[in-house]
Amino acid sequence: MFIPKRIIFEKGALHYETGKQIYRHFLQDNDIELIELNNNKIKENIPGDNLYELYREGKKTLVVGVKKGFKFQSCKPSAHYQLPLLSGCIGGCQYCYLNTNLGDKPYMRVNVNVEEILAAAQDYINERQPEETIFEGSATSDPIPVEPYSNVLKQTIEFFSNNQKGRFRFVTKYTDVDTLLDIDHKDHTEIRFTLNTNTVIQNYESRTPSKEKRIEACRKVIRAGYPTGFIIAPVFLYDNWKEDYLSLLVDLKSSLPEQIDHPLTFEVISHRYTTRAKNVINEVFPEHTLPMKDEERSYKYGQFGYGKFVYPKDALSEITAFFQKEIDALFENKVIKYII
Ligand code: SF4
Repeated sequence: MFIPKRIIFEKGALHYETGKQIYRHFLQDNDIELIELNNNKIKENIPGDNLYELYREGKKTLVVGVKKGFKFQSCKPSAHYQLPLLSGCIGGCQYCYLNTNLGDKPYMRVNVNVEEILAAAQDYINERQPEETIFEGSATSDPIPVEPYSNVLKQTIEFFSNNQKGRFRFVTKYTDVDTLLDIDHKDHTEIRFTLNTNTVIQNYESRTPSKEKRIEACRKVIRAGYPTGFIIAPVFLYDNWKEDYLSLLVDLKSSLPEQIDHPLTFEVISHRYTTRAKNVINEVFPEHTLPMKDEERSYKYGQFGYGKFVYPKDALSEITAFFQKEIDALFENKVIKYII
């Protein structure tokens, strides 16, 4: 659970029940600074003169805000739309895409006008009927660490459980799932966990739970009957990578409950980076040890006009063959969506 150092309440946020609930939750804690804004100048209230400092203080900051404007971003290919409930993440993953996309907003933000956001979602659902519309809750965030005191996901899962044509999904590395377990979700919400080896977690994913803790949370969610998936990412090639990733799969398999209501989905993504991301990472984590030597990678042109440095073809083939074989051997009721 995220315990921030400071919480910044945007103008109007305390008019909403979720905003009040967060305020009450932390009111008695003298170590946490509660800041009520009359404007929305968030950055002025976070110390830091440069990206390096702003990143570190931002990661200790929770912004409780009000979403204005209800035009949702598309979210292809994983969903139809992003659901703009939260943004940012408390994790310190060095390779994180948020470093590039939300670099000047490293803080965790919760939008408390949840009912208004869900009403806007309903409009999108109505437009697409009779087709189903899928909303992604983690396109720009990892939403779980603030859930115990915000209940934003709970409200959202309940909204979608009663919805004929709307579906919800989100992905997390975190484990604060207990308040979601008793919800009558009616299979309308899919929860995916990002997993990795402890070597990768220890080297590159600071402030995130261990492999064992993530697997324990997976087990709880599967037992609660949620459609569940695993994203194994980013896959790094290092000495003993095969042994480590095999042990991850074996540990996952051995922790699964006997009763699994839905096929488990697997998505496997090898590490890749853009030049822009690399430049931001070098600024935010000057001491990082991420393997990002361009000459050791292949350059792959992307659909959005910029290319990425991926592992060379032979290495990618080895990754694909390895995960295909081991997942097939270990898991029966599963779907491997892709290995890239
Ligand atoms: Fe980024 Fe996910 Fe790590 Fe958060 S947990 S810093 S969203 S990679």
